[in-house]
Amino acid sequence: MNILNSSIEFLKGIGPTRFRVMQDELKIFNYNDLINYFPIRYIDRTRFYNLNDLPRSTSEIQLTGKIINCSIKKQFKRKILIAELESNNQKINLVWFRGYKWVIDKLKINEKYVVFGKLNWFKNTPSLVHPEFVLQHLFIKEKQLKIYPLYSIPEELVSKGITQKVFRNSIENLFFKITNNLVETIPDYIIRKYNLISRNIALSNIHFPKNHDILNKSIYRLKFEELFFFQIKLIRNKRIKKDKIKGLVFKKVGYYFNKFYKNNLSFDLTKDQKRAIKEIRYDMATGKHMNRLLQGDVGSGKTIVAFMTSLIAIDNNFQACLMAPTEILAIQHYKSIKKSSQNLNLNISLLTGSTKKKEREEINIELKNGNINLIVGTHTLIEEKIIFKNLGLAIIDEQHRFGVAQRSRLWKKNLIPPHILIMSATPIPRTLSMTLYGDVDISSIKELPPGRKKIKTYLRSDSKRLNVFKFISSQIKKGRQIYIVYPLIEESKKMDYKDLMDGFESISRYFPLPKFRISIVHGRMKSKDKDYEMERFVNGKTQIMVATTVIEVGVNVPNASVILIESAERFGLSQLHQLRGRVGRGDHQSYCILMSSNQLSDDSKKRLNTMVEYSDGFKIADVDLKLRGPGDVSGTKQSGLIKFKIVDILGDQELIKTTRELAIEILNKDPELLNKNNLNLNRVYKSIYKGEKNIWNYIS
Ligand code: ADP
Ligand code: MG
Repeated sequence: MNILNSSIEFLKGIGPTRFRVMQDELKIFNYNDLINYFPIRYIDRTRFYNLNDLPRSTSEIQLTGKIINCSIKKQFKRKILIAELESNNQKINLVWFRGYKWVIDKLKINEKYVVFGKLNWFKNTPSLVHPEFVLQHLFIKEKQLKIYPLYSIPEELVSKGITQKVFRNSIENLFFKITNNLVETIPDYIIRKYNLISRNIALSNIHFPKNHDILNKSIYRLKFEELFFFQIKLIRNKRIKKDKIKGLVFKKVGYYFNKFYKNNLSFDLTKDQKRAIKEIRYDMATGKHMNRLLQGDVGSGKTIVAFMTSLIAIDNNFQACLMAPTEILAIQHYKSIKKSSQNLNLNISLLTGSTKKKEREEINIELKNGNINLIVGTHTLIEEKIIFKNLGLAIIDEQHRFGVAQRSRLWKKNLIPPHILIMSATPIPRTLSMTLYGDVDISSIKELPPGRKKIKTYLRSDSKRLNVFKFISSQIKKGRQIYIVYPLIEESKKMDYKDLMDGFESISRYFPLPKFRISIVHGRMKSKDKDYEMERFVNGKTQIMVATTVIEVGVNVPNASVILIESAERFGLSQLHQLRGRVGRGDHQSYCILMSSNQLSDDSKKRLNTMVEYSDGFKIADVDLKLRGPGDVSGTKQSGLIKFKIVDILGDQELIKTTRELAIEILNKDPELLNKNNLNLNRVYKSIYKGEKNIWNYIS
């Protein structure tokens, strides 16, 4: 057995309990999985900065110096702790907004420290907020002057003992065991041509970088590898598919489509919606197999396009299905489709994880005998038991939430592959999607439905909170509903949860029962409870929804008119945009209020002002790309159709192009990868995409 397939259970530092958690929650089973779980970020503690020469951005820096002063000050009604650090005859403030009692106890005046934290610029003055600190004589240079990896670990797992330290130690132990077992995957001639470092060196340095140079080379090498094999697959599949796969022919646009269009449609379709439907109709009638991405900003009206697409399938005596990533979304789609299809005499059903057994059995029967025309549901739809009589169309909403394997299981539910329509609100530049998706066609809805009022976006600091609450109160009086969103990030989750709970408490005090009712939803709740709370809000039983970003995807509550985003400076631009899309879905003037701390860095200011200024998702994605500096390893690894391990779809456009051209060149010369030069390549390719032998897997 290849040692890389060994279970991590017996790896030093893991053991059976952690193993179970890592296996269940992170899908890490063996050495190979663990080694391929790359850090999302690094903490650079390789050098000490000079106060004369600080970077102008908000990066993390390390300093040495003497604490010369430490006092509590009052600022904007709250207490903060400021300690002055003297370093090379210059001074910088270290600032704590929270937990300062602990800090005061520890910090000793006139002692030398090593401090490390995020640099914050305010009005041209730098400071460090909540820095880590250690007495200089306790700092061991050889051991601590390093680049540290940071892994993505969900908070629930940290409390189960899966910490950064466990990751670091166990991966370190792993490398002792396997150094000679990491084989090269890329042929020699390519390694030389593109100046790549070996896989061995890249993998060990992606986890434990010796220096920045080797880290960058490792990242480049691993991105190259990921993209190269991906492009080989994409181009091979495209060629094979062209030869082998015939599509169902939907010639008729008949009874249901026309009747719906005439009698049921309660609004005029936008130009873009019409064009999308036309493109889809045409596509499904040609005899080619449709594989189409319907891209449109939040609220642009993709659902109706999807539904009308399914009417075409039904008109041609086929069944259709619509799969959503969460139960709430599935129910929402089901309800709105049911409502708009009255008098059509269609059999539309809903199937989710909580569908009762008896009902489920009935649905199974009716799907099998063809009585159900359209089924809306969650992952449950891909279960083996679910058998269609003749599935002609599979629609997937917010598909980046599903894995490739899950999606392809849906295609396999018909003898001839059903047409596929995938919906996404993540805007990707067109040039990019061509190189990434190969033969996926794209329909874009850029124009919002008419009468949609532009969401008014404001930036407010904490000192204006009372006014903001008054405003919220007036909106509730008018019958509207409110979202209040709190940030939650890996590295400060404990604090974040505390903020969320503190916030919830003060909101509950300001908006007391019985006049106001408040829902709360966050990641620590069971999904059953989450759904319950969401549902209460969706049904208007509560007026305020306090939540972390779990509400980001797709929820449609047209009556919600305000989204208040707390500590908005801590969110990424695309996330803010997604969040803002939760409001402005009905007739009411809607508002997005970005709450931020009084001190904003230049970067944060730019980001938040972009939100105030622009509403177009494509434009915001553009700014996002420009603002994000090079070397930002985390980022849009996941977007649209594909989930990458290390590639950043927006940041790595150049490399996407390079690897694509290389893959085309290789496959032109050697379509089956049988040349001697490419034998190893062929073997690796097959092992990466093993089990994908039948034609079904060439779609996606
Ligand atoms: P998304 O593209 O984010 O999935 P939805 O399909 O949920 O957006 O549509 C958002 C709202 O806009 C829904 O309430 C829907 O009924 C409405 N809508 C869609 N198309 C139009 C239109 N052409 N005119 C008016 N309202 C529309
Ligand atoms: Mg939607």
